[in-house]
Amino acid sequence: TQSLDQRDSAVQDAITEEFERQDSQIELIASENIVSKAVMQAQGTVLTNKYAEGYSGRRYYGGCEHVDKVETLAIERAKQLFGCEYINVQPHSGAQANGAVFMALLQPGDTILGMSLDAGGHLTHGARPAQSGKWFNAVQYGVSEENHQIDYDAVEAIALECKPKLIIAGGSAIPREIDFAKFRAIADKVGAYLMVDMAHIAGLVATGVHASPFPHAHVVTTTTHKTLRGPRGGMILSNDLDLGKKFNSAVFPGLQGGPLMHVIAGKAVAFGEALQPNFTDYIKQVVKNAQALAEVMVQRGCAIVTGGTDTHLMLVDLRPKGLKGNQVEDALERAGITCNKNGIPFDPEKPMVTSGIRLGTPAGTTRGFGEEEFRLIGNLINDVLDGLVEQPEGNAEVEARVKAEVESLCKRFPLYR
Ligand code: PLP
Repeated sequence: TQSLDQRDSAVQDAITEEFERQDSQIELIASENIVSKAVMQAQGTVLTNKYAEGYSGRRYYGGCEHVDKVETLAIERAKQLFGCEYINVQPHSGAQANGAVFMALLQPGDTILGMSLDAGGHLTHGARPAQSGKWFNAVQYGVSEENHQIDYDAVEAIALECKPKLIIAGGSAIPREIDFAKFRAIADKVGAYLMVDMAHIAGLVATGVHASPFPHAHVVTTTTHKTLRGPRGGMILSNDLDLGKKFNSAVFPGLQGGPLMHVIAGKAVAFGEALQPNFTDYIKQVVKNAQALAEVMVQRGCAIVTGGTDTHLMLVDLRPKGLKGNQVEDALERAGITCNKNGIPFDPEKPMVTSGIRLGTPAGTTRGFGEEEFRLIGNLINDVLDGLVEQPEGNAEVEARVKAEVESLCKRFPLYR
């Protein structure tokens, strides 16, 4: 019956410090968001006690009648959000969702074709250090050298050459809308399945702000914690019920044991929230904010990969200022602004250095920032960058001044109060 602070002050203190960090810093990591109190509450419940291997109505454990309701709510809401016939809400993460699809559709050694990490793809799309890169013959496509966007003719040429069994569209650093119909046409030409990993853009897809991968994809995977603003987790979606049976078996018993029912409750709550009209307003604001931030970055002398963004994120090319991604990530952190260094297409720097940073607006927009605040943030970022140009080791005076401005902005938009 003891509360956390009574039982374990070491963990409680670290959690409190993390809350204070989130509350007083500007979060620009494009893959993060801030869930509602309701989503968080759902996760901290007795559902964490329950084993429920199997699926609603067909469990390997007794006592599942209530968690069945929760899982069914999550599934029905997700079907409504994305307009599809089949959903599996059990994957513990985006990587697990992708792994389950591979398990269902592929044999070890099969050829897959995904976007390379340095062009904006994800580790799970066939990168060398990942299981997808080790267990499959992973061929990778990139972006055009000319405009840094996906070159569909080049993807087709590679597909014709390597004859993949699965083509993967989507990634972690793609600022422009993806043409899923073109991907499907390529997949059909070579007899491949098309998997769309919409992890980053799921919130945009749910609200019609980004084109839907349906009806083009055979299967869609996603995380639930990025623009969709749910708990950390994954999901598989499809319109093909026969494939759906294979995905279900691949998730359980193929890859996972008991589903995280408390997290699935959080997913159900988040999907319910995403079905409300104000979630569409939120997502539209996320994109407007990204465009406002990108504009200021350009005005202040940075370059933006592809010249702008259609989504919630942008890749900032720091080379016009002569700066590196790792140096800028550290300096911004000192100034209370959190982002990640990110390679830009054809980056001459190593992955631990990079010439770029990735900036995203989902978390800031959740706390209430609009375009005016994001223009201010763009100027604060560039003050830090210009300080670094003068003093590459870090300009303590500028960073302290920006940190104070960040804190006063954050105080005007407090978290969870
Ligand atoms: N797919 C894409 C496109 C992602 O960006 C990510 C995470 O960043 C994942 C999959 C993996 O998700 P998770 O970290 O939940 O395993």
